[in-house]
Amino acid sequence: MNWDGKVVFLTGASSGIGEALALAIAKRGGTLGLVARRRERLEDLSNRCKAYDGKTRVFDLDVTDEAAVYQAADEMRSEFGRIDILIANAGIGGNDEETRAYHPPSVKKVIDINLLGAVNAVHAVLPGMIDRGEGQIVAISSLAGFRGLPRSAAYSASKAGMTAFFESVRLDVRNKGIDVTIIQPGFIRTPLTAGRANRMPFLMELEDAVPLFLKAIEKRKRFAAFPWRLATIVRAGKFMPAWLYDRIAGRARYRE
Ligand code: NAP
Repeated sequence: MNWDGKVVFLTGASSGIGEALALAIAKRGGTLGLVARRRERLEDLSNRCKAYDGKTRVFDLDVTDEAAVYQAADEMRSEFGRIDILIANAGIGGNDEETRAYHPPSVKKVIDINLLGAVNAVHAVLPGMIDRGEGQIVAISSLAGFRGLPRSAAYSASKAGMTAFFESVRLDVRNKGIDVTIIQPGFIRTPLTAGRANRMPFLMELEDAVPLFLKAIEKRKRFAAFPWRLATIVRAGKFMPAWLYDRIAGRARYRE
């Protein structure tokens, strides 16, 4: 796949994985709609993308605002003619006491941003892709969505929901020229994982992870999970009986 001239709508662009992907895509000639809440960070990123001659548009909005996400996608289409790729990446860890205590508004916030924010983005781009008979939708889900993790109920639920949602979409758009790629990373060093006391097995550096994200998108994979060692363990966990899973995962101090 050639990124040159591809029009990409990227949520969660202002830091971490989204920021790194934006720069990598701009470097390869892609055009970017940069979505997040922190405008200053997006403007700064936009300038860095432009240094690679990448075209950008900045949209400072909250992905839980359905109308704002729709309008942003519409403005992208008006300016650049189409959206080729959606990368639904915006997300939070919800790594706080309230969320861990199942405080409903805190859990709702995680699910609103991680799952329903991604739904808003799909709703905003998919009809245009279906009309054109081409496009790609990419979900940045997580290995945390395979099975419930301890002290991570909201995050695990949001990512399990995200994986299931995008898999259903993939089935719905089969034969419509649209590919759906679900990426399930393990731990990557970003602001989301920064400062956590918990053990993060097989923690990856962002620069090592970016080529894996790009490869999954370029190959239009249905699923990609990495790093491979953690992905293998997590996949094996999926097939464990509950008593065995409880014994192993209950002991582990994993979080998102
Ligand atoms: P990050 O550095 O904290 O970036 C999160 C991004 O999401 C930021 O750009 C943030 O921008 C944006 N965002 C958060 N809430 C938003 C909202 N309501 N509306 C619009 N944008 C919002 O974290 P990251 O590690 O790069 O995470 C990116 C994605 O990868 C997340 O979905 C995360 O769950 C997933 N993931 C991360 C890891 C990991 O280990 N890092 C592993 C698996 C999956 P603003 O604050 O400016 O809005």
